[in-house]
Amino acid sequence: MTHNADDAWSMLRSRVSECTRCALHKTRKNTVFGQGVLKTNLVFVGEGPGETEDEQGLAFVGKAGQLLTKILDAGGISRDEAFITNVVKCRPPENRTPAQEEMLACSEHLEAQLLLLRPKVVVCLGATALSWLMKTSRSISALRGQWFDWRGITLFPMFHPSYLLRDPSKAKGSPKDLTWQDVRALKKKLAEF
Ligand code: SF4
Repeated sequence: MTHNADDAWSMLRSRVSECTRCALHKTRKNTVFGQGVLKTNLVFVGEGPGETEDEQGLAFVGKAGQLLTKILDAGGISRDEAFITNVVKCRPPENRTPAQEEMLACSEHLEAQLLLLRPKVVVCLGATALSWLMKTSRSISALRGQWFDWRGITLFPMFHPSYLLRDPSKAKGSPKDLTWQDVRALKKKLAEF
């Protein structure tokens, strides 16, 4: 990032930490801006913080996040080389899907993050990130593992790790098996840059 971009990033971070643009601010413990390296080719976008994330103010640190780290590691991709965040920066109560108006309110933050980071690839983790960024109603099952464009950045949808936690099967064609294929495709794509 340039010096100006560094400043813009710090301002964005502080805007998010004080944000009251939607009702989710009333029930959050912490905002979850996201974390990782800023000079990166790879950004992950999930749905929203869960309980552990809300408590720690960090993205993808609960069970789903740990599984994601494990799967990526197995495919030769380190989370330490990526930035990871969510569509909404405050936890939806009971982990419900964020409402349209909440995503709309928060999208300004996410878009600003992506335009400042300008990674080569954004991985949409799960249906919410996919439908929000791609403005599509098509399912994650139909679109995962394919490459799309978002303002000149390559989008790659994958299943959300919490979905994999609910379906432990490793059989051919299972969500875990398909995710493993996606991680390998992602690794291959990143090698092109
Ligand atoms: S979810 Fe986003 S828009 Fe809503 S209060 Fe939190 S940071 Fe602001």
